[in-house]
Amino acid sequence: MTSATEIRRTFLDFFAKNGHEVVASSPLVPQNDPTLLFTNAGMVQFKNVFTGAEKRLYDRATSSQKCVRAGGKHNDLDNVGYTARHHTFFEMLGNFSFGDYFKEQAIDLAWNLVTREFGLPKDRLLVTVYHTDDDAAALWRKIAGLGDDRIIRIPTSDNFWAMGDTGPCGPCSEIFFDHGEGIPGGPPGSPDEDGDRFIEIWNLVFMQFEQLSPGNRLDLPRPSIDTGMGLERIAAILQGHHDNYDIDIFRRLITASAQASGTDTDGPYKMSHRVIADHLRSAGFLIADGVMPSNEGRGYVLRRIMRRAMRHAHKMGVPEPLMYRLVPALIETMGDHYHELRRARALITETLKLEETRFRQTLDRGMRLLEETTQTLGATERLPGDVAFKLYDTYGFPLDLTQDVLRADGRGVDTEGFNAALAEARTRARASWAGSGEAATDRVWFDVRDTAGATEFLGYGATDADGVV
Ligand code: ATP
Ligand code: MG
Ligand code: MG
Ligand code: MG
Repeated sequence: MTSATEIRRTFLDFFAKNGHEVVASSPLVPQNDPTLLFTNAGMVQFKNVFTGAEKRLYDRATSSQKCVRAGGKHNDLDNVGYTARHHTFFEMLGNFSFGDYFKEQAIDLAWNLVTREFGLPKDRLLVTVYHTDDDAAALWRKIAGLGDDRIIRIPTSDNFWAMGDTGPCGPCSEIFFDHGEGIPGGPPGSPDEDGDRFIEIWNLVFMQFEQLSPGNRLDLPRPSIDTGMGLERIAAILQGHHDNYDIDIFRRLITASAQASGTDTDGPYKMSHRVIADHLRSAGFLIADGVMPSNEGRGYVLRRIMRRAMRHAHKMGVPEPLMYRLVPALIETMGDHYHELRRARALITETLKLEETRFRQTLDRGMRLLEETTQTLGATERLPGDVAFKLYDTYGFPLDLTQDVLRADGRGVDTEGFNAALAEARTRARASWAGSGEAATDRVWFDVRDTAGATEFLGYGATDADGVV
């Protein structure tokens, strides 16, 4: 079996052989972009190189980038446990050309890697192009010999990438693998494309325009290439699985979760183990990169991820904190490539242990309140907002945790009611702080509300409201 470690190596070596500089992953907290919650793609660390604001010594690069998609524009938190292909933390393998090669060579390199180095059968592959991108369609025909039925033209923004309202942009082309009949889901562009039969493995972005203002677009004199391939998705294929959660890394973490909880990996808690394994990775890597659980911004996203996993541990009836006991398995599977995990071992362990110890003090009572309340509701009735607020305020249940618990029964939450209760509590807090002559900011309110103690402000822009409650 080809391990995920070997696949990462093969990818980086292939592009190194083809003149690319191997660049280390950047941290999960973006260094150059205060508007971005977490690094969510390989290109993030190269943004300024693509715009021309920064020059590097190389004009081709390759990387295996740590990514977290648990908030903001890309949020896959609610997909975890439900699809075969989404994680909150994953590794994005990429190759980049900064004004050097363009479409033809990018397609040639990608096709060679996928069919020669990785040996994927051509008849299981199909590609998409942006509907007006005749160049890309012609290149796929020429280089890969694919028929028009396997080159799908997509008219939506899924196949057109833009850095922002202005800046570099261009069409994308994505490579899909057909996992075979029997798995629900249709090809890209079809009504049931969100199924897991045809899985997107690689996205090639052709940055060929510069958007100056709405409706005003220039051709870039030196177009660029940005690509991203999910390591876990290609590993699933190469290890003979359909599901990302069956790859070596996840099997090891899921086994550790099952052992530590005294349950079966594939029994009634199968989904819980997947969530725990996924959230262990994102929590561990975020802590290693300096994020600490708190009640705002990035720290609150981390807290929400951790508490969702801890709720699953509680569901399995585990009497003691669980997550911190899985850190050795995390380091064993990923610490050789990501040394920061080893360096932060004690911090990750202690942070997980403390958070779970504290959350367990209220988790049980909160779950009882939730169960008692839902028993009084009709089958389709939503959870009242004031109950969701009490869970949040008294028992430390982030709103999305409550929603996650109820989702299993197809029940929603009255979020308007929740927001109203939250706004009212804030107003009350402001009034009482004003009376005491203190600055009445939400910041103070939340610091005071923080029963779990650790509040860290990480110094990013206050505009980044992603994921707060
Ligand atoms: P999908 O449509 O499956 O959600 P995407 O189009 O959002 O994927 P991109 O933004 O194109 O993904 O990212 C490039 C590649 O990174 C994808 O082709 C996929 O292989 C991988 N990838 C994206 N999101 C995830 C995730 N949440 N977990 C694992 N791999 C992912
Ligand atoms: Mg996505
Ligand atoms: Mg997609
Ligand atoms: Mg994509």
